[in-house]
Amino acid sequence: MSETIFTKIINREIPADIIYEDDLVLAFNDINPQAPTHFLVIPKKPIATINDIKSEDREVVGHLYLAAAKIAQQQGFAQQGYRAVMNCNEYGGQTVYHIHLHVLAGKPMGWPPYQDTLKV
Ligand code: 5GP
Repeated sequence: MSETIFTKIINREIPADIIYEDDLVLAFNDINPQAPTHFLVIPKKPIATINDIKSEDREVVGHLYLAAAKIAQQQGFAQQGYRAVMNCNEYGGQTVYHIHLHVLAGKPMGWPPYQDTLKV
């Protein structure tokens, strides 16, 4: 897959407000936060979309959630609650093609998460 801006963040080629790192994942604050707390947890391995996750990626994808929960504990919002969501492709609202878990916290989240008038 072609390199995205997130690879540049992993390689420290562009700056980011990094809040967590281990051997498999990196977490940093979103540049355009949609909640009082909004960070992204990304695998160091570049995977373009959910559709591109392979069986051998199950550990790293599970690790995204373990890291999110660890950071939630560290930052003190685990019990209050939060949303962890991954967008996929155009209709999912994905804009950066390197999978990332959005973690949003610090206010109650609405559901459904869209504002249109589509009837399903
Ligand atoms: P998506 O729309 O793909 O689900 O989410 C991409 C997210 O990446 C957006 O929330 C956007 O604000 C964030 N983002 C895009 N470019 C950068 C960047 O250079 N730095 C940081 N910290 N976040 C970024």
